[in-house]
Amino acid sequence: MNSILVTGCNRGLGLGLIKSLVKDPNPPTNIIATCRSTAKAKELCEIKEKYQNVHLLELELEKPETFNSFAERVKDIVKEDGLNVLFNNAGYAPRTTKLTGVRTEDLMKAFEINTVAPMMLTKCLLPLIKLASEKNQDKPMGISRAAIINMSSILSSITLNTKEADFNLGNYPYRCSKAGLNIFTRSLSIELNQNCILVTCIHPGWVKTDMGGPRAALSVEDSIDQIMKFVKNLNNTHNGDFHDYGGDKLPW
Ligand code: NDP
Repeated sequence: MNSILVTGCNRGLGLGLIKSLVKDPNPPTNIIATCRSTAKAKELCEIKEKYQNVHLLELELEKPETFNSFAERVKDIVKEDGLNVLFNNAGYAPRTTKLTGVRTEDLMKAFEINTVAPMMLTKCLLPLIKLASEKNQDKPMGISRAAIINMSSILSSITLNTKEADFNLGNYPYRCSKAGLNIFTRSLSIELNQNCILVTCIHPGWVKTDMGGPRAALSVEDSIDQIMKFVKNLNNTHNGDFHDYGGDKLPW
């Protein structure tokens, strides 16, 4: 993989992904990490200082009107090689339990960040992703050619959300917006199959981040180690599907 772009890299799983990518024995030529404000991304800035292949770009996902100019900045970095991997990682999970606690503004914001932004950002970066796929026609479907990876959540699985399930209550804005991301993933995988661009979504596990909380089962490092192993092995059998961090297929 020549280039990868990851959103939401100032903390949590996004930061973990960047830390893992820079230490990879075969690191990408360009690692593009986005955050909302570089002034507030101390650790990420320190990584950028240390590794020349890391590029830091500011991106506010609630401002889709900036995505075209953002794509121009990405093009200046990747140039004629295009962008191999777009990892839509950033996410937002307002806490709600019962329907009585759901507020319109939380729903709108969750859809904006978890569904609309990944879709519209992908649209703006698609020419660069198609370019990478064309430039790597000798390679099979996967990250060395071109891939779009969406960070989803098991909480968006309709099949798994039963009366007996753990965590089966509430989180309506989060669940609904990630379910939207899931159907986007499947539909886009069908549209881009002819371009040999892999599109998939991953559940990272329950992870100790600001979102997952301190009681979560996995450390960021454990989740990212497994995600990276899985991502490196992505192939056409994973296209348009939903998997957990270990690579097990999840039901929609
Ligand atoms: P965190 O809450 O720790 O980090 C969220 C990241 O998203 C931050 O970098 C944050 O930036 C960024 N972000 C939020 N809103 C915006 C916005 N409007 N524009 C740009 N960036 C934004 O979450 P995690 O690292 O835990 O989650 C990463 C992904 O994994 C998410 O998609 C999440 O839904 C998913 N996930 C996480 C699980 C877990 O247990 N942790 C479980 C299942 C899925 P800022 O610091 O500026 O707010």
